[in-house]
Amino acid sequence: MSEALATERVHARAPGKLNLFFEVGAVQDDGYHDVASAYQAVSLFEEVWAEPSPEFTVSVSGTVDVAGVPADDRNLALRAARLVAKELGHEGGVHLEIVKRVPVAGGMGGGSADAAAALVACDALWGGELGSAHLQRLGAKLGADVPFALMGGTAIGTGRGDRLSPALAQGRFDWVVVPFEGGLSTPEVYRHLDALREGPDIAPPLRGPSVDTAVLHALRAGDPVALAQCVRNDLQSAALSLQPELRETLELGESAGALAGMVSGSGPTVAFLTLGSEAALDLQVSLTAAGYNALHVHGPVPGARVVG
Ligand code: ATP
Repeated sequence: MSEALATERVHARAPGKLNLFFEVGAVQDDGYHDVASAYQAVSLFEEVWAEPSPEFTVSVSGTVDVAGVPADDRNLALRAARLVAKELGHEGGVHLEIVKRVPVAGGMGGGSADAAAALVACDALWGGELGSAHLQRLGAKLGADVPFALMGGTAIGTGRGDRLSPALAQGRFDWVVVPFEGGLSTPEVYRHLDALREGPDIAPPLRGPSVDTAVLHALRAGDPVALAQCVRNDLQSAALSLQPELRETLELGESAGALAGMVSGSGPTVAFLTLGSEAALDLQVSLTAAGYNALHVHGPVPGARVVG
């Protein structure tokens, strides 16, 4: 590759997320649920390289099983690239190379992170004219979790999860995440929650969702023990009902020293909050010894950005 072409390759990175708190309200007229979420971006990054090409193409590899990721126009990153091109009136296409580390269909927003990285990479490749507010608006068109993957850090999301305000978080939180093969479909988990709420065991929401103020206090204080008392995920009951073996993982992690365990987003990834880096390492060792693929991550980390 010539020097000129080499510099025309933009490398961007975007983080996966955990939902520390996720309250699901009623279904809205547009078919989406009203939610209130506390997001934290964690140190599991998707990498995207963008380079000029006559067409819009994508290749996908990674440290996780990428078999379920479409390498055509259904790919969220490629749709992001097309949106940026349209917005800028750019003729010509792009080739995106994606390296995935976030478990696919794992409830950690990997596809959204790819889209966010593609938005910033293509904007940079084609002149860098779109500001962050504009990219946020494009991101919201692609999916509810894309705006947060752009923003990163720790944030509260309302509406479909895409109306964001940053949350003050001190220090760092150490998590151990356990991905599972196969994944769970987010729409299916929501449908299952709706079905469970028709039954006697799970109450339907009585009011609009909102994030517990105890979560905000714990984040502001940088206190994982306090945060562990108030983490919550309304999708967890549905995810556990669809994949009952996750219960065993949650129990094992909690008995092995986690402050709290929960299903991440729509699952099936399980996330454990720990006291700190050393405790996370100990837990990772225990879970690995029990045969799980356990990853130590921390948050908050920055959102999508160009790194080269
Ligand atoms: P959510 O953001 O809804 O929590 P998730 O984290 O559970 O999603 P993702 O890995 O983002 O799951 O992908 C969900 C589905 O989206 C995949 O099964 C795949 O079919 C589709 N998809 C489209 N583009 C991508 C992409 N770039 N990476 C991963 N999945 C993608």
